[in-house]
Amino acid sequence: MSNQRRPLIAGNWKMNGLASAASELKELVAHAEKHAAPKCDILICPPATLLREMAAVAGNSAVEIGGQVCHANESGAHTGDISAEMLKDAGASYCIVGHSERRADHNETNAVVKAKAEAAHRGGLIAIVCVGETLAEREADKTLDVISDQVKNSLPEGATAANTVIAYEPVWAIGTGKTPTPDDVAVVHAHIRKELDALMNDSDQVRVLYGGSVKGSNAEELMAVENVDGALVGGASLKAADFWPIVATSI
Ligand code: PEP
Repeated sequence: MSNQRRPLIAGNWKMNGLASAASELKELVAHAEKHAAPKCDILICPPATLLREMAAVAGNSAVEIGGQVCHANESGAHTGDISAEMLKDAGASYCIVGHSERRADHNETNAVVKAKAEAAHRGGLIAIVCVGETLAEREADKTLDVISDQVKNSLPEGATAANTVIAYEPVWAIGTGKTPTPDDVAVVHAHIRKELDALMNDSDQVRVLYGGSVKGSNAEELMAVENVDGALVGGASLKAADFWPIVATSI
């Protein structure tokens, strides 16, 4: 990991959590508060129903709150959708865009993801833009081509290291307990950095996270891979007792 880039350990709760989940965030905040000067950023992206409440629980602690997706528009007739401005108003500072579950379940193309990343920036949020290959693409030796296509076409023009984070999440590693080898992760992260170099002036400052079955037992090894600047964590972010050991690798 480059010394200049501050790691981000982010949790994505997906469609999990009722009001009672505030106790998990309280526990996480209590862990974080034991560190006067944390060396990493810590983020939880709860379902939108909990955002305002979780932002209140996080308060001024080192734990930040984010959305899981946003609409491209600021407001309007889009039943069920939420804008970046609304997420910001509820207390978010980040928004995930282009998660593979959104790409697959809601047909979000690179163009849609790009519009949402742009909306996140417009709304004052840091966009976490997810990219990753399917198992079929990996087996067909297309991983780097897929990643190139996603990075080039999902990032809006105004993307900078300050407003954008990339998350490399191989689709086949999400929620499966399978992870690429550290060498495989290194190859993809180096490739992403090369693509970013061609797109952005401050590419060397952009954080590139790894996501896909990160847990306490493998986090240290994965976070030590060159060009890995943190993690995007699904299942293991739901309980503070599982998430904190991942944060602890970077704090
Ligand atoms: C995710 O969906 O972003 C993710 C990484 O999930 P998990 O950690 O459960 O594999």
